[in-house]
Amino acid sequence: MKSARQNDGIVGAWGGHRHQRRELGRTWRDAVGRAKEMERSTGLAHKVKAARSEFGRPAPRHAPQDVSENRLIQTRLELKFWTNGVPQIDAVRPKQCLGCGAASHAPGRKLVVVGHGVRRRQMRGPVRVGAEPEEVEYQIRRYRCRQCGAVMTAGPRERLRCRLFSLPAITWAIALYGMGRVSSRQVRGQISPWRKVGAAADRTWQTLRRWLGAARDGRLFPFAIKASGRPRQVADRLSRVLMAKAPPSFASAPAAEQSVAGALYSAMGITPCAVV
Ligand SMILES: [Zn+2]
Repeated sequence: MKSARQNDGIVGAWGGHRHQRRELGRTWRDAVGRAKEMERSTGLAHKVKAARSEFGRPAPRHAPQDVSENRLIQTRLELKFWTNGVPQIDAVRPKQCLGCGAASHAPGRKLVVVGHGVRRRQMRGPVRVGAEPEEVEYQIRRYRCRQCGAVMTAGPRERLRCRLFSLPAITWAIALYGMGRVSSRQVRGQISPWRKVGAAADRTWQTLRRWLGAARDGRLFPFAIKASGRPRQVADRLSRVLMAKAPPSFASAPAAEQSVAGALYSAMGITPCAVV
């Protein structure tokens, strides 16, 4: 059997003596350095940067596989509407594709954003501040754009992208830890549906740490919010910012409730969606 090295001269050179590889590495670095120098001198770097920002991120090299979880249609329908069945297909269809922006249903034209089935999901934690933690199964609706292939999902307003715990549960946990100065173990006791955990997880709740890390990087909530500092500082700052986002009707509610209301309010209506 012929090896790839024998077939390909370049690979053969790489597989040769160590000093040769070093030499190649140096040549490569030199070439990159020269190219950068050229870009700087011709002002090309600036142009390339401008072009990139204009067109956003470069197109993925592979066909999109898991875009479904990335295109989340934030509805105003509470979890209870999704636990016994799913809303009508037209009720939560987005007005436009969240991928390419094409109108879902332009007058006199064929439907662009079409139904793409339903899926089962789980949601963990208390559904509201003060409630007992639970694990609920529900269904989401999926849509697919016939123009760009993007898959979008519509689910309860309490749902957060890539999280099994609900938005109220996570926001309450952060408020407890930040403003409430409660230990991470106690937070877990109030938020997690599982009472018994391993001895290693007894002192800190890693899930809470992960949420705070994601929040610090602006990856937790579907709206722009960032906070820096140590985990407890991040939690405290986030909770206060979220409180300020709560509708005026929550002004006399407890701090944690205000924080959750602020998060829900900010999450709703950030994506174009049918009137629900
Ligand atoms: Zn599209």
